[in-house]
Amino acid sequence: YLSVTGLAKQFGDLQVLKDINFSIEKGQVISIIGPSGSGKTTLLRCLNALEIPDNGIFQFEDGFTLDFTKKQKKQDLLRLRRKSGMVFQSYNLFPHKTAIENVMEGPLIVQKRDRKEVLNLAKSLLKKVGLEDKINLYPYQLSGGQQQRVGIARALAMEPELMLFDEPTSALDPELVGEVLKVIKDLAKDNWTMVIVTHEIQFAYQVSDKVVFMDGGYIVEQGTPDEVIKNPQVDRTKQFLHRIL
Ligand code: ATP
Repeated sequence: YLSVTGLAKQFGDLQVLKDINFSIEKGQVISIIGPSGSGKTTLLRCLNALEIPDNGIFQFEDGFTLDFTKKQKKQDLLRLRRKSGMVFQSYNLFPHKTAIENVMEGPLIVQKRDRKEVLNLAKSLLKKVGLEDKINLYPYQLSGGQQQRVGIARALAMEPELMLFDEPTSALDPELVGEVLKVIKDLAKDNWTMVIVTHEIQFAYQVSDKVVFMDGGYIVEQGTPDEVIKNPQVDRTKQFLHRIL
């Protein structure tokens, strides 16, 4: 679906991403794991141009190519952005809109789709994430896990090719983590193409086709969950997993 070559990003003097190379197939789930500050979130944000890479090439299967060694056209960045839906750590729902209004906002306002069609879509997505009885509640009336599930439905409503998750459970109380991970697992079963930054190693092991371990702005190791999590080859990966498992 997408291959990323030579991706690099610097903030001031800090080189946060250094020569990142990986690819993702259609329908695959990739988890990105690694210590705090290793560049995981920055990598994810580069994939939808929330951060503009300094260097690197994105090549999509459909022929669309973005070469960040050259100056980017606005249109191309928009085209990249439209390919993916992002789920943030902190939900980012509109506080003055109900669950269903939050889900409808993008398709109605950005995509200018028919209201009735969007209403039906939003209902079915909220049902999919297990919130069919909460559609008219406001974010403050929902638990963190419920808000995050609205966040997922909202990203899905734009019908993106790629779903990006930035530590989707790290702001949640432990007892609410499971319900959000279950929704993401269901999406994996439905063959969504997804990149997930996560600290939940067991979850990454269960849900992923590929696991990427990052440290210090590099991909230290990537492979199947069995290769990277069960049987890591590089000392740095072993130390990281040993510390958190
Ligand atoms: P965590 O697991 O703690 O979220 P991470 O692996 O996702 O960490 P990033 O959030 O990508 O790491 O951050 C990598 C480094 O880049 C950190 O040192 C961070 O302080 C720095 N950084 C991230 N965004 C910016 C920014 N907009 N401006 C300056 N520095 C930044």
